[in-house]
Amino acid sequence: MKNKMQVLKFGGTSVGSPQRMKDVCQLVTADGKQKLVVLSAMSGTTNALVEISDYYYKNNPEGAIHMIAQLEQKYMAHVEELYSTDHYKDITRTFLKGVFEGLRSMAKTHFTSIEEKIVLAQGELMSTNMVTNYLLETGVKTVLLSALEMVKTDKNSEPDASYIKEKSRQAIEDNPGYQIYITQGFICRNAYDEIDNLLRGGSDYTACLLGAALEADEIQIWTDIDGMHNNDPRVVEGTVPVRQLNFDEAAELAYFGAKILHPTCIQPAKFAGVPVRLLNTMDPSAPGTIINNDFIPGKIKAVAARDGNVCIQITSSRMLLAYGFLRKVFEIFEQNKTSIDMICTSEVGVSVTIDNTTRLEEIISELKKYGTVQVDNDMTIICVVGDLRQNNLGFETLACEALKNIPVRMISYGGSSHNISFLIHKEDKQATLQALSKVLF
Ligand code: ADP
Ligand code: ASP
Ligand code: MG
Repeated sequence: MKNKMQVLKFGGTSVGSPQRMKDVCQLVTADGKQKLVVLSAMSGTTNALVEISDYYYKNNPEGAIHMIAQLEQKYMAHVEELYSTDHYKDITRTFLKGVFEGLRSMAKTHFTSIEEKIVLAQGELMSTNMVTNYLLETGVKTVLLSALEMVKTDKNSEPDASYIKEKSRQAIEDNPGYQIYITQGFICRNAYDEIDNLLRGGSDYTACLLGAALEADEIQIWTDIDGMHNNDPRVVEGTVPVRQLNFDEAAELAYFGAKILHPTCIQPAKFAGVPVRLLNTMDPSAPGTIINNDFIPGKIKAVAARDGNVCIQITSSRMLLAYGFLRKVFEIFEQNKTSIDMICTSEVGVSVTIDNTTRLEEIISELKKYGTVQVDNDMTIICVVGDLRQNNLGFETLACEALKNIPVRMISYGGSSHNISFLIHKEDKQATLQALSKVLF
């Protein structure tokens, strides 16, 4: 494809009100360059749709209908505020009414995960329709491309990169000459052609998948904060933005809890060599964070935390000298389609963490064949990211020193050259993050 395009993604807060939508439109049209713009649902909408699904699951259609009415009222007010002409008010209202009718009609169907995913998709379908209509009203050559026709997952729920490449390029080729191409983040089709999604926060993933597919110059993730901070700003005071991250460092931080990025969104960008820039919609001139192939030696970049882990320890006197023991243990997780995050071994046992507990009981009962099993719930992984190569002396010691008063359940170091992870109890998270910030930054 000749046309190198920028891919810009705007998150929920960035499109969270009619005024914010107008600001985004101003931002993407200012330089007159062609762009693919990926939008999230307006903030709060996906959460509301999750609640509506919950009511339907629990066989409480009245609860669902009540929430739908509230949401509809809000969106109808947005229409009044966003558009100045009757024509655009009318066509947007008609579209939104169709969406809310669809949500209400679910009361008559047997509600399964298929319906749930249809419900969850409505937020992005609404926000992209609204922004497209606003751009058209203001005279910008804009076209709305359906993510449902460009983004697909395979039988393992992994994005189908070759499909995405083919379909996204085709979609743009079929619609030449537009200034702004809009599409939905988060939503996709799965291997069975059903409407599905890339999990919560998935719009970042959409942007990176499309940016990689189109070999974009740059993928920009616009959000409500000035780039990746060196610690979780929701937990620790005085965090500051990190101006540059290596792809691997960013991937590690995203996977281990830095909410600013979807856990697996960096991988496609890294693979395609497309830099990712994190920017602040509320302060567009702030430099943000650039994520690329550069590696700055001798620096600890940031700390992140991920809750909701379960630690499983298997001890066996027979592990000593028993080749094949670890294979048997890992096979149990594989057969139960549960991936392991952290792992530590000793002569007599192995501890691992998982965050998907769907098959925990089956896993435990299988593991008991090979030794004594102990389970700790509500654990948090703390991940310290930066130059942690073995020759770079002292940083592991510093990180461990910071945790001298925290009960640490596991430590993992050496799996990569840019990460050291600690497993702690969730109630110690704040103290741990604060202590690390104090010592490392
Ligand atoms: P969006 O809706 O734009 O996708 P998110 O809420 O998903 O935005 O991500 C941005 C939020 O991530 C920030 O407001 C901040 O509270 C949170 N966050 C957590 N860890 C970090 C971090 N290390 N750096 C920056 N933001 C972080
Ligand atoms: N709207 C979806 C969510 O709230 C996807 C996203 O915002 O990235 O999770
Ligand atoms: Mg997000």
